[in-house]
Amino acid sequence: MANDDLVLIATADLVGHVRGRAFGADQLADRLEHGVGWVPADLALTTFGELAETNSFGPLGDLRLRPDPSASIVLSSGADGTGIEVMLADMLNLDLSPWACCPRNVLRRAVAALKEEFGLTMVATFEHEFTLLNADASALPRGGPPFSVEALRHFEPFGSRLYAALARAGYEPDTWLAEFGPNQFEITLAPCDALTAADRALLLRELVRDLAKQFDWRASFSPLVTSHGIGNGVHVHFSLRDADGAPVLYDPSQPGQLSAIGGSFAAGVLAHSSAVCALTAPSVISYLRMRPHTWSAGHAFLGLRNREALLRICPTVGTSDIDQQFNLEFRAADATANPWLVLAALVVAGLDGLRKKLPAPTVVDGDPDLWTPGEREAAGVADLPRSLKESLEALTNDEMIGEWLGTELLGAYLAVKEHELAVLDGASAETVCERYTSVY
Ligand code: GLU
Ligand code: MG
Repeated sequence: MANDDLVLIATADLVGHVRGRAFGADQLADRLEHGVGWVPADLALTTFGELAETNSFGPLGDLRLRPDPSASIVLSSGADGTGIEVMLADMLNLDLSPWACCPRNVLRRAVAALKEEFGLTMVATFEHEFTLLNADASALPRGGPPFSVEALRHFEPFGSRLYAALARAGYEPDTWLAEFGPNQFEITLAPCDALTAADRALLLRELVRDLAKQFDWRASFSPLVTSHGIGNGVHVHFSLRDADGAPVLYDPSQPGQLSAIGGSFAAGVLAHSSAVCALTAPSVISYLRMRPHTWSAGHAFLGLRNREALLRICPTVGTSDIDQQFNLEFRAADATANPWLVLAALVVAGLDGLRKKLPAPTVVDGDPDLWTPGEREAAGVADLPRSLKESLEALTNDEMIGEWLGTELLGAYLAVKEHELAVLDGASAETVCERYTSVY
């Protein structure tokens, strides 16, 4: 970056918005050590910009945002050619110790516990779906046939520029595609360690938004942009590796080829799934997207290559390196969630399964939504929450996840989300979609 370019030091808050403060690039060396000032109550900012009334932070206190130079992206689409580097930061107390409520630190703690207790590391990546708004696709029927050459080409050179920028940033882009919905796209990255994966998820979204502006479009990651539309999900792929870096989820002798370790981890995620959803599908709109038969997540179960499952055992290809390819996909996340908290929730729930040595869940075949409640119960298929209120209740009652978050962070989270519920109380589905689309 040139000395007169700006560097923005940022964090992601409890509603997944990236917020921060900028300074001239010539100050970076000093800022890497001491960061920039930040205010605790910023964590009580809610989805639509107001402060949660009941937050415990109030007007008091000061923090530092200390940037992590490995978590950065350069946005270069200023109208006059100016750029800005966005660098994610840890939220620290003034003595530079971690602040208990920092969501990035919540993930750091979870990853460290997994390593310490079981010698395991999570490798993860997020699939990002989004909709390009204001992009004139009137020449294409319904925004173009899904997955078609025509739809992909119509929006060029957006895709090729995005792909190139991600490659330049070292994010290892995987695939770019025109998704099923009108003007809907998907971009994926290669897997990496959990903290980096969550950092990249946040920064990739800012890159997509910034690039869309160059075209006078707006990119929205809202879980739905219209109430009858196709959902924008954020599926999370993950696997576990041992201390030597060897993959541990694959065991060809087990049902679904899922190892005992993988089975216990998956069982932990399923056991805590309702509370986990409060952190991964954390908005009123999340439950408009997440319904059976929408390929989001219909019920809480482990499925083999089944897109109605909460946890999907993904396919592997060919006959070599199967253990390296083998991974699970968690389908109940969306972009209204904070990616650090998404992965922390999965790790913490999975850890509980490992600690309790839970038996592997049944690998469910078929679509349990077509079964009777009795058949679902017999197959170990549980309901997912059907509203934000239900998932928040589950989070409040989940002692293990609550303890992990800590009283202060849990209190702030519930306050922020209760504010969101109150603001949208009685709103029509269409209004709900409009409101979230305006901010995500
Ligand atoms: N758009 C779907 C969702 O809301 C996902 C489709 C897919 O399987 O990629 O999760
Ligand atoms: Mg997709």
